[in-house]
Amino acid sequence: MDFDLPPDDDCRRLEVRAWLDANPDPNPAELLDVGYTVPHWSPPWGIDADPIHQLIIDEELNRVGVRRPNNPIGIGWAAPTIELAGTDYQKQRFLRPIFTGEEFWCQMFSEPDAGSDLANLATRAVRDGNEYVVNGSKIWTSAGHLSKFGILIARTNLDVPKHEGISYFICPTDLPGISMTPIVDATASHSFNQVFFDDVRIPACLLVGEEGDGWRLTRITLANERVSLSSAGSLWGAGPSAEDMLELVRRSGGCDHPLVRQKLASLKCEAEVLRLNRLRTLTAQIMGRIPGAEAAIQKAMADDHGKHVMELAKEIAGASGMLVGSGPYGRLRSVIGQGPTDSRLDTEYFPDVSPIWHYGFVFSPALTLGGGTFAVQRNIIAERVLGLPRDVDVDAKKTWAEAQLGRQRSEV
Ligand SMILES: Cc1cc2nc3c(=O)[nH]c(=O)nc-3n(C[C@H](O)[C@H](O)[C@H](O)COP(=O)(O)OP(=O)(O)OC[C@H]3O[C@@H](n4cnc5c(N)ncnc54)[C@H](O)[C@@H]3O)c2cc1C
Repeated sequence: MDFDLPPDDDCRRLEVRAWLDANPDPNPAELLDVGYTVPHWSPPWGIDADPIHQLIIDEELNRVGVRRPNNPIGIGWAAPTIELAGTDYQKQRFLRPIFTGEEFWCQMFSEPDAGSDLANLATRAVRDGNEYVVNGSKIWTSAGHLSKFGILIARTNLDVPKHEGISYFICPTDLPGISMTPIVDATASHSFNQVFFDDVRIPACLLVGEEGDGWRLTRITLANERVSLSSAGSLWGAGPSAEDMLELVRRSGGCDHPLVRQKLASLKCEAEVLRLNRLRTLTAQIMGRIPGAEAAIQKAMADDHGKHVMELAKEIAGASGMLVGSGPYGRLRSVIGQGPTDSRLDTEYFPDVSPIWHYGFVFSPALTLGGGTFAVQRNIIAERVLGLPRDVDVDAKKTWAEAQLGRQRSEV
């Protein structure tokens, strides 16, 4: 493992600093044109930055508070797949507005009966001249109602095994026949949607790759979830980290409650293991190796860790944690009996307490579901890291139509 991260006078760091000094408040187009939105991409979009160079750019942008456009599915998943398998038209039309954040994207993969077993999806796309006619339904479509386009997978062939009959499309969300029903999540946000397709006509020029190649592209899309190099945020790399919580505790005068101290120490250990594991992944990439075990265990560990951070924050808040504006800082002092005893428990009294702590706690059970459930992550580790026998899929060799028939019979 190589822990020597570039020093302050590293020429790549100085270059980024000089640019940020000259452009203290860059707009998305300027950030893209200098190559800092997706530095690991080749020109014209990026600068072929290796992982260390990416880390430097991330650090420097964070230092001065410059944020990249918020378009995670567009930038992280759709763009790499379009670059890999898309037509020239698709690259020219879609990549730039994805990277500038002008066009927000969503992901239309999961269905009511196809989540972990995504290849079981039933939404149909039937070719009709220069169009595909799509019927079916997608669910858990995050931010679908805010998106201009979605990456959509649908079944174009029933008479081959389930993995082979899937195709991958770019789907404008305003096509006639598309309707969305909001799903309000546990945090009370309208974050998800169920999307219905009723004879929706998608132009054939929006098929990505070959018909029937959708499963391969889906796997590439999912693998492209960007390795978070610099962020230790407990909500999938975003939001507060264990270190943020420890800092709040330090600023509030420390903690001498033995149980809370033990839990904080244990959280610190988890965070450190995750940080070191990120560095192992980084080292593997620098040495040209494909990250193996370390990448597979990162998601499983980070999801659990995120839950632990938020659970402890709530625990430290004590009874006042039932209030929406509560967080660990102000509450910690009274929990351990050395702080203010004033009964005003709101954020006005504790202005340093961000509502993100409460939101994060309510959201955190989703961490071990989205992007592959905890059980599926452990299956991957069992099969690909430990070399254990594969999970049994009795339908793998049947055509999709035969498998459906079998399922219906067994249900009767
Ligand atoms: C916050 C969040 C955002 C999301 N955003 C999107 C989005 O934008 N677009 C989208 O398409 N989807 C999205 N999803 C859906 C997500 O991909 C699915 O929830 C996930 O794939 C699990 O599928 P499921 O919910 O159908 O659960 P199921 O697959 O039905 O799983 C139910 C339970 O069975 C277990 N299980 C299933 N298979 C196995 C197995 N082989 N071995 C052991 N246990 C198993 C699971 O671990 C789970 O506990 C999002 C989910 C969340 C939580």
